[in-house]
Amino acid sequence: MPQATFTAPDLGSFTGLDDLGLIAVGQRITPERAELECRVVEPDSWCHRCGCQSLPRDTVVRTLAHAPMGWRPTTLRVRIRRYRCTGCAHVWRQDTTRAAQPKAKLSRSGLRWGLQGLVCEHLSVARVADALAVSRSTANTAILEEGRRVLINDEHRLDAVTTIGVDEHVWRHTRRGDKYASVIIDLTPVRHRSGPARLLDMVEDRSKQAFKEWLAERPQEWSLSRILCKGVGGFGDRG
Ligand SMILES: [Zn+2]
Repeated sequence: MPQATFTAPDLGSFTGLDDLGLIAVGQRITPERAELECRVVEPDSWCHRCGCQSLPRDTVVRTLAHAPMGWRPTTLRVRIRRYRCTGCAHVWRQDTTRAAQPKAKLSRSGLRWGLQGLVCEHLSVARVADALAVSRSTANTAILEEGRRVLINDEHRLDAVTTIGVDEHVWRHTRRGDKYASVIIDLTPVRHRSGPARLLDMVEDRSKQAFKEWLAERPQEWSLSRILCKGVGGFGDRG
């Protein structure tokens, strides 16, 4: 008889907190949202300057938008310990860079969820922002940055691309007109039925002119003949 590989239920692995260096110590779940009270796993109690041992000083709370559970926005309330060195009086706080980029409002999982939602699921920025319970502007800025960061690290991302698509999203309505973000997607795997679409680039503008500019920066063998698909998937928030 095949052995089922179930393990004990565990909020940390279920919500991906283990990968962020966090541990859940409490939960508050309402029909509208979920909040997880978290602590940082690594103590980080030795002085960064002189190496002396420290005393705990106090704690501060950092709030992070996490990948939603279902469509329920899920927020991490991370209680971070601050220390004071017994030797040089230096004060620092526990390192949370595994959980989120410095000053970010989204956890790394929240960010990845948003990027996937926008690019692979063709969700509008408004829908992503609602599910993360952050402003559209916060979602848009963070996701564009993450898209660029992920892309810049892969210098071969444009190799073997034969079919690309552009998908534009309205992310803010202004008096002078709407603001757009365009995502440029590699549809080669979809065309060859070998896998899902892949994010190539993200630009902060409407697809037509943004895409023209993007294309102008590519090597010469990139021509319009490659662009067989345009305006793929959803078209963002019009309301
Ligand atoms: Zn010190």
